Amino acid sequence: MESVKKKILEARDLVKTYGTGEGAVHALSSVSLDIYDGEMLAILGSSGSGKSTLLNMLGGMDRPDSGAILTDGHDLTKYRDRELTRYRKKEVGFVFQSFNLIAELTVRENVEMTADKSQGKYVTDQALAIVGLSHKSGSYPTQLSGGEQQRVSIARALAKSPRLLLCDEPTGALDYETGKQILAELDKLVRQQGKTVVIVTHTQEIGKMADRVIRMRNGKITSEEINETRLGIEDIEW
Ligand code: ADP
Ligand code: MG
Repeated sequence: MESVKKKILEARDLVKTYGTGEGAVHALSSVSLDIYDGEMLAILGSSGSGKSTLLNMLGGMDRPDSGAILTDGHDLTKYRDRELTRYRKKEVGFVFQSFNLIAELTVRENVEMTADKSQGKYVTDQALAIVGLSHKSGSYPTQLSGGEQQRVSIARALAKSPRLLLCDEPTGALDYETGKQILAELDKLVRQQGKTVVIVTHTQEIGKMADRVIRMRNGKITSEEINETRLGIEDIEW
């Protein structure tokens, strides 16, 4: 019997248009999707298909022109700025292609800055241990490889202890093998920590490791499928 999965986010009819008239870009045209607790969801699509725009809406970094994003009985799109900031700070973790680490801060400081103050040290230690970087806590970002920097950004996202991690092209700036290691880390978070991970990527093959795959084109979702036979990272090539 299939277990009942809990929805943690429901996006309904999201529309986002940049510009007006002839030059208008329909970044999102009525996009609806659900995100379930404890899943790895891959959102695939070529460059310009609207993936980042969608992820930014789900993470409360941007607002749609219309539509709703429901979470815990609230509609994110109706939040005032202060509530949206709180959501962004507490409820979601972000991992970007460009890592977004602060060069002047050590690894530990980069991670600790997002942790809840009362538990900062403990949470930071935990997050660094999960991504295997405890031994680099005193290093600065420039002293790390690209893969290590991305692991710091994952640790930073984890330090907030969000249930939802939104990753925008997390392997985009990494070489192939390092990219695979980062995907293995993200997979571990789902399988071992029970996190929900959304990975946005233009690399089709990455979809094979996800529980569910959504494809986008021209601001629309064109398909959605459940992976009955999910592959391990070691069995994926691109
Ligand atoms: P993807 O992440 O799939 O590459 P994006 O969501 O970044 O796609 O962009 C979708 C479309 O919206 C593209 O045509 C892009 O040029 C456009 N777009 C995104 N952000 C802006 C913006 N701030 N101003 C104008 N156009 C934008
Ligand atoms: Mg993008």
